[in-house]
Amino acid sequence: MEVRRTVSVKLDVDSNDAALLRETVDEFLLAANYVVDHAWQGEYKTTSKAQLHAETYDDVREQTRLHANLVQNARNKAADAVQSAVARWKQGEYAGKPHFTSPTVVYDKRCATFHDEYVSLATVEGRIEVEYLLPAADRDTPHSRYLDSDDYQVTGAELHHRDGQWFLHLRTNAEVESDTPKQATTGHRTVLGVDLGVNQLAVTSTGTFWSGHEFDHWRREYEERRGSLQQCGMRAAHENIQSVGGKETGRFKLMLHRIANGIIEEAAENGCTIIAFEELSGICDRLPEASWGHKWAFERLYEYVKYKSELHGIDVAVVDPENTSRRCSHCGFTHPDNRDSEAFVCLKCGYENHADYNAAKNVGLRYLRRNQTGDGGGAPVGVRLNRGTLNANGEYETPAGDSGQSGSPRESPTLNEARSSDRAK
Ligand SMILES: [Zn+2]
Repeated sequence: MEVRRTVSVKLDVDSNDAALLRETVDEFLLAANYVVDHAWQGEYKTTSKAQLHAETYDDVREQTRLHANLVQNARNKAADAVQSAVARWKQGEYAGKPHFTSPTVVYDKRCATFHDEYVSLATVEGRIEVEYLLPAADRDTPHSRYLDSDDYQVTGAELHHRDGQWFLHLRTNAEVESDTPKQATTGHRTVLGVDLGVNQLAVTSTGTFWSGHEFDHWRREYEERRGSLQQCGMRAAHENIQSVGGKETGRFKLMLHRIANGIIEEAAENGCTIIAFEELSGICDRLPEASWGHKWAFERLYEYVKYKSELHGIDVAVVDPENTSRRCSHCGFTHPDNRDSEAFVCLKCGYENHADYNAAKNVGLRYLRRNQTGDGGGAPVGVRLNRGTLNANGEYETPAGDSGQSGSPRESPTLNEARSSDRAK
């Protein structure tokens, strides 16, 4: 059977190449949006790739300096987005015209050549060669497991530009003889813990936050208009969401899709093969400030992450939520007074951090403990933090591959407002 893994590699890009890549990204987005605009004209939206090719290829070649295969990849990206919008209409859901802004370019083997330590990429002005910034080869990392392995072949990649850095998300696959891909590929598995909440809709154990502000604002406005009560629970969620306008729910589904993509990106970039959530049942008891709207949002978010993660070879797991917000992720001491709103201060060891970040670490740790004592096959597992990995014995391992970093264990989260708001809106 086929096993797929996505491995994120940081690229060593000089300023000339960076300028070329930025122009390539701009023209790729221009091409994809041009095809969407064309497909969207008229009453019937065009979803056929062959038809879109015939109707837009020459125009896009004329308007851009893109390599022929990049033009085709942009068209495929556009066609896929239009197809999924139409599919949602057929299910009675709202979907607006897709528009691409996220700085990415889709590469395949015709417009990129993947070598062991560098890649050759087509740009608006011919090809450039860019080196990978790889961790030491003797360490057990996703790079050594999948990129250096002869069993795994790179099939394509997406170029991403984020926080001033260039990344390549390499898609790899392997033919594996075992019936259980997990056994065939386990060496070391890394888990990303996710905490769901009201002030922050989602927080990962790597320290990325997605604010719940916009969502909460929308829900309150809706409740005021309809005079409905703030209630939690399945029935309230279903009854209320039925009566919310399709356009409004569509907007928020789109937001949740973006958060789901962000969580998966976070997992891929940190070499995680498992994303762990708390079990959603009983969430109303645990989060007294949660309403039917949150219940609805958490269910959608979990569902989106679950189906999107399959493409990346990432598994989704749920853990028992008991005490994840009251337990100290550093020493294990559990007490309700450890937490005061968004601040977590352990009464025993003094560990201080954002309460939701502490909870996200606990979600990851719970998955890890369960799978080392239970039915996980005994494979070593670690929780990915924003600087390094924590194993079940509480031992901290500094990250590999960040050249120029001292590697000191700094695991408090960086609240990057620009980044979290960019993803949440
Ligand atoms: Zn403690």
